[in-house]
Amino acid sequence: MSAKIISGTEVAKTIREELAAEIAELKAKHNVVPGLVTILVGENPASQSYVAAKNKTAHALGIHSEQVTLPADTSEADLLKIVEKYNKDPKINGILVQLPLPKHINETKVLYTIDPEKDVDGFHPVNVGKMVLGEQCYLPCTPHGILELLKRSGVKTSGAEVVVIGRSNIVGKPIANLMLQKRDAGDATVTLCHTRTKDLAAHCKRADIIIAAVGVPKMVTADMVKDGAVIIDVGVNRIGMSESGKAILAGDVDYDAVKEKASFITPVPGGVGPMTITMLMKNTVQAAKQAAGLI
Ligand code: NAP
Repeated sequence: MSAKIISGTEVAKTIREELAAEIAELKAKHNVVPGLVTILVGENPASQSYVAAKNKTAHALGIHSEQVTLPADTSEADLLKIVEKYNKDPKINGILVQLPLPKHINETKVLYTIDPEKDVDGFHPVNVGKMVLGEQCYLPCTPHGILELLKRSGVKTSGAEVVVIGRSNIVGKPIANLMLQKRDAGDATVTLCHTRTKDLAAHCKRADIIIAAVGVPKMVTADMVKDGAVIIDVGVNRIGMSESGKAILAGDVDYDAVKEKASFITPVPGGVGPMTITMLMKNTVQAAKQAAGLI
């Protein structure tokens, strides 16, 4: 069997078209323009390119976007003041502080200062708590994107054995939690694995769906995957440089071998990656609708 490829690029394109139409309607009918501010501290090249992509996407969709770029030696107090300023700014519905922050700044303190109503990354404990309780909230963007990929590909999750590898706060823990809830793309039986898991391969071999969010290139091999399993590969690992100087990327899954056994698989790049920014835009639109009393 050769797996059906779940193209995040295609699904993201469809969702962006839906969002562009929704944003145009919000403006025409309610004079509401969603607003997003991205705050970048320092000159980490990966962070610079993520923030640029977020602003470009926001702009293309008709979202009002502002970008704040601060020097690496910005004090924690100054950054908190900027966050508080945007908490009060009615033009801004979503505040995104790009992580990681320089070491002298307490990330937790900064994330906790963002108004939960504007926390479109879904990292504030109020939103995390609501997510766990299954209440309306902003879902963290990468797990939210995975749910959309599963739904829109017609993958049945109810009753499925799901193995999530990786327990980070931004991917592993939230996706494991979301998939066990009584909801669309949920109702699964979930096992969450990490470095202390005794026999990772044994867990994976039983899984109907494997979600790998590890950061180790090609660690999920074909012998760990049962025939017909669905594979969601979150990993983005640089494994070299092309002659033209472009990074060569690999996921956490040995794609070429595993796609011969799986029923569905996400590629890297072009799988989960394009969904993350798209869901940030979706959360920003949700924030604007909430602020306008439309939901
Ligand atoms: P992270 O915070 O570094 O967490 C990695 C997790 O993997 C940890 O829980 C760790 O276990 C576990 N782990 C590491 N090696 C393992 C092994 N050999 N066996 C079992 N578990 C192992 O990573 P993250 O932020 O979740 O990111 C994971 C990957 O996804 C990275 O490649 C990242 O670049 C990518 N990512 C992609 C997107 C996207 O939009 N496509 C978004 C976010 C992240 P312990 O807890 O025991 O240490």
